[in-house]
Amino acid sequence: MNLLIYGPPGSGKGTQAELLHRSFDIPHIATGDILRGEVAAGTPLGLKAQPIMAAGGYVPDDIMIGIIRNRLQQGDSEKGFVMDGFPRTIPQAEALDTLLEELGRRFDHVVYMNVETSELVRRLAGRMTCPVDQKTYPPGTVRCPVDGAVLIQREDDKPEAVKKRIEVYLEKTLPLLDYYRDQALVSEIDGVGTIQEIHKRVLTALGQSADVATS
Ligand code: AMP
Repeated sequence: MNLLIYGPPGSGKGTQAELLHRSFDIPHIATGDILRGEVAAGTPLGLKAQPIMAAGGYVPDDIMIGIIRNRLQQGDSEKGFVMDGFPRTIPQAEALDTLLEELGRRFDHVVYMNVETSELVRRLAGRMTCPVDQKTYPPGTVRCPVDGAVLIQREDDKPEAVKKRIEVYLEKTLPLLDYYRDQALVSEIDGVGTIQEIHKRVLTALGQSADVATS
């Protein structure tokens, strides 16, 4: 089960990837989370990525491809993986195809979370994030319901950065849809609804019984 969750920022792909990770016991590989970890640890990579991320831009392809190469070599994805946030450009997708081929793997499904731009802006602007587990909550939420931490607003969820992230997505990432449609891998999911409703749609698209969700 080698999966890609693909969609614009704010489409809920991180949330759905996390549910697939739990349902199928496969690692959730999220390049945004990896980068935020590097920023928090103050590594040279983190220092380079931080201003780019804060402004809503993309970290250069060669750096991202290196990160994914290392991640896939960790050896925890024999049963598969769910990738979230990578690839985001055509060169990243081509490099990933080569890398997967070297590992004797290929994507089984690309799940496209379709959400209108006006809804994305509504969701992202003012979204609050738990500094402990990075889960996100609606605007106005003060504390994390799980661990009680005071929620923060991610730099890149501020209005100017949100605008830029959506623009960059439309220019650089949307073309991936045709790239994967040409490989007949894409299932399009309506990304508006409750988390569980959308999870069921994703499972159906993957040809899995919705019972897996609760097992
Ligand atoms: P995310 O949590 O997936 O929205 O990622 C947060 C930020 O990390 C993005 O806005 C980019 O600045 C950076 N980032 C994550 N993944 C990639 C990627 N595959 N290519 C370039 N930049 C990335």
